[in-house]
Amino acid sequence: MDAIEVGVLGATGVVGQQFVSRLAEHPWFRCTWLAASERSEGKPYKSVAPWKLATPIPHASASRIVDGCVPGRGPKVVFSGLDASVAGEIEGAFAAAGHIVVSNARNFRMDPVVPLLIPEVNPDHLRLLDEQRRSKGWSGAIVTNPNCSTIVLAMALAPLRSFDIRSVVVSTMQAVSGAGYPGVPSLDILGNVVPFIGGEEEKMQTETLKILGSDGGRSPYPAVVSAHTNRVPVIDGHTMTVSVAFQQQPSIDAVGEALRNFSGRPQELALPTAPRPPLVVSDEPNRPQPRLDVDLGGGMAITIGRLRECPVMHVKFVALGHNTVRGAAGAAILNAELMHAEGMLR
Ligand code: NAP
Repeated sequence: MDAIEVGVLGATGVVGQQFVSRLAEHPWFRCTWLAASERSEGKPYKSVAPWKLATPIPHASASRIVDGCVPGRGPKVVFSGLDASVAGEIEGAFAAAGHIVVSNARNFRMDPVVPLLIPEVNPDHLRLLDEQRRSKGWSGAIVTNPNCSTIVLAMALAPLRSFDIRSVVVSTMQAVSGAGYPGVPSLDILGNVVPFIGGEEEKMQTETLKILGSDGGRSPYPAVVSAHTNRVPVIDGHTMTVSVAFQQQPSIDAVGEALRNFSGRPQELALPTAPRPPLVVSDEPNRPQPRLDVDLGGGMAITIGRLRECPVMHVKFVALGHNTVRGAAGAAILNAELMHAEGMLR
C-alpha cells in the first residue's frame, strides 16, 4: 500500500510535536509538510520547535523548512494542533480548499455537522461528513477529537451506556502538559493545586453528551454531567475520580465486566495504533497512577481502577489517560486511521 502523504498545522507546538513524532514511524501515513505561524515560517523545524519529547526529533522533520498555514500548499490530509485562537479560521479555510482536516482544536467540536469522534465509541458519527459538505459547501472536511479530559471520561462511560446512565460527577487532576508550552508558571503549580482551568468544565459537560449521543451527536445522550477541573503538578496524564448514577442500579460485577469487555471498531479493524484492550481495568487498590500507567497501550489506553459502590450515586472509580497522546495527537491519528480504513481519505 502506498503511504498517504499528510501534513501538520501547528507543528511546532506541544501537540504538533506529538504529531510529528508519532507520524515518523507510521505504517500508513508519511509526514511531508509542516506548518506554523509567521514566526516559524521559512525556518528549519528544529530551530523553531522547542522539542519537549523524550524521544529524539525525527530525522526527516528536523531540517524540514516550516511553511505558513496557507490552504492548497500542503497535502490533502492535514492534522491540526493549532492554537484555538487561530484554528477556527485556518481549519475552515483548509476544508473549503479541499483538505481533510483532522483537528485537535476545540473550535469545531460542537458544530452539529462536525463529527466529535472517538473511534471506539461513536464511529457512526462519521456519517455527518456528507451533510457537512452539503451545508458548509466545503470540498474538504473537518473531523475533531475531544478535549483531553473529555476523552478519558467518555471512553470510561461508553460501555456503561447499556445500564442507562442518569448522572455523572467527575473531578479531574490534570497534568501541566495540557496547558501547552511554557504553560503554567512553575511558581503557580509546584507544591500546589489550581482549582480552575478556563472553559474545561463546560467542555467536559457538553462534549461528553455529544459523543455518547445519537444522530451524529445531534441528540445528546440523555444524562447530566457535573465536572470539577483542577491543574496538578504532574507532567503527563489526566487522572479523574468519577461517580455515576443509572436509571436502575447495576451490580458492581456487571459494571466491571462491561468495562473489561469493551472493544470497538479500531480493535475489530486492527488499526495500527488501536490499543488492545482500549480500557485497562486494574484490581490494584492504589492504581491507576500517572507515573506508572500513563503509557499503557502506547499512551492510547485508558486505565480504570478502584471500581466500587458509591453511597451517594451508584458506582465510582478512577480513570486515567495520556493527555497529549490519547487526549490529542494520538486520538487524531486514530481518527485518521479509521477514516482511511473506511475509504474516506483517498
Ligand atoms: P502550543 O504549544 O501553544 O502550540 C500552538 C501551535 O499553533 C504552534 O505550532 C503555533 O506556531 C501555532 N500558531 C499559533 N498562532 C498561529 C497563527 N497565527 N498562525 C498559524 N499557526 C499559529 O499549543 P498546544 O498545547 O500544542 O495545543 C494546540 C491545540 O491543541 C490547542 O487548540 C489546544 O487547546 C489543543 N489541545 C491541547 C492538548 C494538550 O494536552 N496540550 C490536549 C488537547 C487539545 P508557532 O510556534 O509558529 O507560534
